[in-house]
Amino acid sequence: RALVVSGQNNHNWPVSHVALQEILDRSGLFHTDVALTPAAGEDMNLFRPSFSDYDAVIMDYNGDNWPEPTRNAFLEYVKGGGGLVIYHAADNAFTDWEEFNRMIALGGWGGRDEKAGPYCFLEDGEITLDYTPGPGGNHGLQREYNMHCRNNMHPITKGLPDNWLHGRDELYDSMRGPANIGTLLYSAKSDAATGGSGREEPLVFTVDYGDARIFHIMIGHAGDSLEENPAMQCAGFQTLLLRGTEWAATGNVTQEVPSDFPTPDSVSLRENYGK
Ligand code: ZN
Repeated sequence: RALVVSGQNNHNWPVSHVALQEILDRSGLFHTDVALTPAAGEDMNLFRPSFSDYDAVIMDYNGDNWPEPTRNAFLEYVKGGGGLVIYHAADNAFTDWEEFNRMIALGGWGGRDEKAGPYCFLEDGEITLDYTPGPGGNHGLQREYNMHCRNNMHPITKGLPDNWLHGRDELYDSMRGPANIGTLLYSAKSDAATGGSGREEPLVFTVDYGDARIFHIMIGHAGDSLEENPAMQCAGFQTLLLRGTEWAATGNVTQEVPSDFPTPDSVSLRENYGK
């Protein structure tokens, strides 16, 4: 059982949460519910999802703070060994919530700066931390880019190509945080010529947070509509989302590598979000 949490975002959450639910449900692996918060500025006190009823919680939320009982229930779920998926701009959320920042390992925007933790990128293939002061969170122009596998022994990546071309998407760079990455799974090269950092940026990883299984996937910017949504229609994004969510829910991955997985040279889009 999976729960998608959405309802406020600086992104097109009416598209993203439906796409996430479609991808998860059409895989046949999950039964997915959606919990939508009230709109920004409205009373949040009745927002009390039963996180503990689920095997995996997928965060598609970037908005107002939650009331304390909801934050505590979420903490209890995650600390109790819960499965958590941090999707795209969910890592922009809750800048001042210290435990949440440890659940995401890296975040951006929302006023994040050196107080959030170091910048984190790859240099000669190694994770490098940079404590230079400055804002956290940036991306250049949307484009297609190659994803580079950093650990092909993890259940989420096992059998997937080391290099594949992702559908047109943002590429987050200059993210900051406690940087408690568990296993780095994929990175990609941010393009300085189109507004990026010029660095190899960590984009898909697990987070080291007690007994919890946390999968953080920074890719998958929601498009204008379900039909015009190349980052989420990408078979590579969908495969990683499904594998990461299954791993978060159970600790294992039972899925075969799909035959339409992208190659290093060609993007593969699923316009119908799965089967
Ligand atoms: Zn975005």
